[in-house]
Order: sequence, then C-alpha cells, then structure tokens
Amino acid sequence: MDWQSLGHLATTFESTHIAPEGAAAAFYIVVSGDDLLIRDDDSDISPLSLDDWRWCGLEARSEHCLGVVNQVPIFAVEVDEDVDQPEGYGFESLWWFLGKVDSDLFYLLGRAKQIIEWHRTHRFCGQCGSETSLNQGDRSYQCGDCRLFFYPRLSPSIIVCVNKGTEILLAKNVNARGNFYSTLAGFVEPGESIETTVHREVFEEVGIRVKNLKYFSSQSWPFPNSLMLGFHAEYDSGDITIQEAELADAQWFPYDQLPNPPAMISISGWLINDFVQRASRGEV
Ligand SMILES: [Zn+2]
Repeated sequence: MDWQSLGHLATTFESTHIAPEGAAAAFYIVVSGDDLLIRDDDSDISPLSLDDWRWCGLEARSEHCLGVVNQVPIFAVEVDEDVDQPEGYGFESLWWFLGKVDSDLFYLLGRAKQIIEWHRTHRFCGQCGSETSLNQGDRSYQCGDCRLFFYPRLSPSIIVCVNKGTEILLAKNVNARGNFYSTLAGFVEPGESIETTVHREVFEEVGIRVKNLKYFSSQSWPFPNSLMLGFHAEYDSGDITIQEAELADAQWFPYDQLPNPPAMISISGWLINDFVQRASRGEV
C-alpha cells in the first residue's frame, strides 16, 4: 500500500492514540531528535510504509499511534538521536518540509514531532519526580505517585494584521535577517482571552491601540508547539513606539508597496494576502 492511496488526509484521517489490532498495513513517521527520516528520492516525500520501516532496521525507543486512515494506523516512532541513517534515507528538520509537502502532511509530521517531544519530556512527574505512565483512556501521562496528568503541550499565540486605512503595520524583529517585515505576534498569557492578548501585544510592541478585532483563521505552528490564532484589527489611537528589546523597526506600509511579498506557507502570509486582496478591490 502506498501513501497516495490514502487519499486526502483532511477528510480521511481520524485521530486516535490506540492502534487497531491486526492491521495489515501501517505507516511510520520516524523522529530522531529534532529531525525526521525521509527517502533520498525527493519526488516521493511521505511517511514510511511497514516494509520500508522494517527494511531500515532501526530500533524504536517509543512508538505512538497518531491516528488511522481507513483502519490503517499511522505511527510516530522515536529512534536514537545519534542513529546512523539507513542507506537511501536521510534525516531532515521539520523546517525542511515546510512548503515542500502538502499542508495536511506537514501538520501530520508536526503532530508526530510534538507527540515524541511530549513523550521525551514527561517521563517523570514535574510535581513529585516519580515515574509517569501512559493512560489508556486518552493521550496523557499520569504520575504513578501523586496522580497528576500531563497532556501534550500547546502554546496558543496571536498573530495580528493591523491596518490604518489601506496601510498595514509591519515590524522587523531584532533577530530578523535582511529586509524581513512581518505581522505582530505573541503568546497568550494565563488569565487572558485571545482578544486581550491582541490588545496587550500590539500596545507592548508598538505602543498603539487597536479596535474592531476580527478573527481570521488559525494554524498549527510546530516550532516547537504553537497554535497561531490570526486576527485583523484596525488602528485606533497612538503613535508607533517600538519595544526595542523585541523590534528593530515598525512602519505603516501601503498595501501595494510592501517591503517583501508574503510567503504563503504561514498564517502571517495568509493574513497579509487577505488584506492586500481586499484593499486592491477597494473593500477596506
Ligand atoms: Zn507526581
């Protein structure tokens, strides 16, 4: 069975942590440290089949069912960090896959890497230090002593495209290379609604107030475990005053004179593109 025969993951993939018994086929996403294993043949970037996985002869340190497609389980498999790559295969970072594979597969690879990372970092309880074990009922670890639960870690973040008329506010991070301007973003803090986070982040980073927040869409961003929640917002008041620890520059740019074209692989690009499309139709 080859990967393509599974069809569109968006409609066929069912998440489950329990693999069906006696499945004749399976697929494997092999994770080593921060890297994932792929065939050297670039024309076929996909998880390994059961035969491929057996042929590789690698030893699994842990194995986690991510879900099933038509009863065919897909596993994330952890192998040693310094394992030699099997002949005909190589390891690549998750970044390498971004834009090279379709988005459904990219998010599945991100899921595999995040589940393995969660397993690696939750073998002992953060409260009492005792060993944890996997639960049967759901995807969680539980401390054998104090019974505390540990679920896969997600860090919600906001990302916001602020506009003043037909201009967009874009900022350059202090660590950004070249002429790379992007929309503002930041992590949600405990106790905040995501709308509160938008107002706080924009004010902290550039000293302005915004209004008329409009939810746009979200994106899993597995570097390492963000969930990006995208908004449009309108300028309300204040002058740009950048937070110098975070930003090197921030400016209003006319929608048709942006400093760099948005890359359409991330929600920042989707947000900017959505605004540019509407502005060019005279809808903002
Ligand atoms: Zn404990």
